[in-house]
Amino acid sequence: MANSKYEYVRSFEQPDNLLPNTFIVVRLDGRGFTKLTAKYNFEKPNDRRALDLMNEAAVAVMRDLPDLVLAYGQSDEFSFVFYKDCTLFERRASKLVTTIVSTFTANYVFGWAQHFPDTPLTAPLPSFDGRAVCYPSPTNLRDYLSWRQADCHINNLYNTTFWALVLKGGLDNRVAEKELSGTVSADKNEILFKRFGINYNNEPEIFKKGSVLYRDGRPVQMSKTQQEKERKKRGKAKIVVEHVDLIGDSFWERRPWILS
Ligand code: ATP
Ligand code: ATP
Ligand code: MG
Ligand code: MG
Ligand code: MG
Ligand code: MG
Repeated sequence: MANSKYEYVRSFEQPDNLLPNTFIVVRLDGRGFTKLTAKYNFEKPNDRRALDLMNEAAVAVMRDLPDLVLAYGQSDEFSFVFYKDCTLFERRASKLVTTIVSTFTANYVFGWAQHFPDTPLTAPLPSFDGRAVCYPSPTNLRDYLSWRQADCHINNLYNTTFWALVLKGGLDNRVAEKELSGTVSADKNEILFKRFGINYNNEPEIFKKGSVLYRDGRPVQMSKTQQEKERKKRGKAKIVVEHVDLIGDSFWERRPWILS
């Protein structure tokens, strides 16, 4: 096609290819979900319907992008991990982030009615922001995922205790907040157990650990080209959703191919 005299404006575009041979993680997060959860009366501290909807949208993203090896979700956020030598979109950050965020958002909005049949969506519709970060080593990537899972645990323990004080203890939000300020994990566990008979360990795993998504089955040892073919096939493999520990070694020792 002939170049128009306007074509030169393309040179204003900035390259944003991400560092080769690193694990790319795209994390998205719900915009203003504190407000949104109030608007749609999410159950506090954890609305299971909303978590299921997040997981469903994330499964759809993994299905759409076979280059993703793992995803981790909690609260209103999801992290998607690409395999190390992935070259999708020439590793351009904007393409990777916008494709994941828009695919996720479309599926979240599409799936809403099934999970919240009694509360139809009204404007402003749910939206998500996103960013891409490169992690050079498997250790860095594991530390990233441990960071998000530890965040899930800390927030969930706090929220579970806070809402027990408010909903079961009849405390005013502000009083509950004051009561919890300066407390450590052991204090919160004790408040839950002594005042409300709640053993935090018995809370649902999905609340305590978040959700881990990966493709089912171990790929066999093979050459580079075979690996490419296999990755395409693996796009069709079943995607598993589990609420398991990522901080210890056990998950990774049993599935070494995820970080290879
Ligand atoms: P921002 O746009 O900066 O992300 P935000 O209001 O979304 O603002 P977050 O830090 O992302 O801030 O917090 C998300 C909020 O949504 C938290 O208050 C969290 O408790 C709530 N939330 C997310 N998922 C659920 C859920 N399944 N059930 C109940 N509350 C939820
Ligand atoms: P990529 O993912 O690389 O963007 P693409 O198939 O979307 O691939 P584009 O260059 O964006 O490639 O082209 C968009 C295609 O959609 C074109 O073929 C265009 O003719 C078609 N298209 C877009 N809008 C309309 C429309 N309103 N009616 C008919 N065809 C449309
Ligand atoms: Mg945010
Ligand atoms: Mg948010
Ligand atoms: Mg968040
Ligand atoms: Mg297009």
